[in-house]
Amino acid sequence: MPIATPDQYKQMLEAAYQNHYAYPAINISSMVTANAALKGLADKKSDGILQVSTGGGGFASGLNVNDQALGAASLAQHVHEMASRYDILIALHTDHCQPKAVEKFLMPLIEISEERAAQGRPTLFNSHMLDASSLPLKENLDLALPLYERLARMGMMLEIEAGVVGGEEEGAAGGHGARSEKLYTTPEDMMEVYRRMQEVKGTYLFAATFGNVHGSYKPGVVQLRPEILRDGQEALRSSFGADAHFYLVFHGGSGSEKEKITETLEYGVVKMNVDTDNQYTFTRAVAEHMFRNFDEILKVDGEMGNKSKYDPRSYLKAGEEAMAARVGEACDDLRSAGKSILQETTVG
Ligand SMILES: [Zn+2]
Repeated sequence: MPIATPDQYKQMLEAAYQNHYAYPAINISSMVTANAALKGLADKKSDGILQVSTGGGGFASGLNVNDQALGAASLAQHVHEMASRYDILIALHTDHCQPKAVEKFLMPLIEISEERAAQGRPTLFNSHMLDASSLPLKENLDLALPLYERLARMGMMLEIEAGVVGGEEEGAAGGHGARSEKLYTTPEDMMEVYRRMQEVKGTYLFAATFGNVHGSYKPGVVQLRPEILRDGQEALRSSFGADAHFYLVFHGGSGSEKEKITETLEYGVVKMNVDTDNQYTFTRAVAEHMFRNFDEILKVDGEMGNKSKYDPRSYLKAGEEAMAARVGEACDDLRSAGKSILQETTVG
């Protein structure tokens, strides 16, 4: 199918919210990882989200060009082409963009979408994240609202974050130790986010923090408190009426305890970002290829090696296959497997 339309993306989120499942949001940084994400989702008949970070975009543009926006645009074009061969819905998103990167990363991408929309074509991305969580909440929202309005005009969505996701991702260092209280978004902050975001008519995603951290940690290091999300949603309902709710995003899902993941689905998490676990899985498969075929990959003692073993396609295919399986596992964890809204409409 072509990339999800604005209406389809909204339907995806609402179906997930109502039925307590979430979409894996898979970070991609190359054609290979994009194809792995598509394969993993499709094999599970799950809709899903493919997302590009600033660093992923830079990588995709190559060492010499090193243009984060251009690389992200290129990956998005690739996904637009390939998604049409799959019978699931894919939404395209960009991950963490800090305030200092807005001009260089988000603006060029938004301008491309505006040009495409003016020609009656689908926007390049479906949604973008602004991560201004390092700023005080008021400044964070002051920055978010004009962006949100600009995106909403094209039917696009904005993802924002309040509170701090721990760990580090693409140089976005989260809170540790002294500032650890910021790892948990308060109900007051959540109500303020909801109140301000109502100024624009549109749809947005909200990454509230509940002790989640980027990266992978040994068991016990991370204290996830999903009840923070439950309490926030309850606070919304009591202040703004029974229909008030957030579409929540779970950052730093890699390595989380499965039962905590499941619990968040009850509280309105509709998107969980998965990056680190896929990175490890991909590299694990490549490492296995290298170790198993060591003697054929390297030209040792005047021998010629084995082209079929050192052709990059041989180990990148192994990486694609392994990552696709890990993406499938995320579909199972998030209960999105078998729930493509396309399947449900065709089946009846
Ligand atoms: Zn994140």
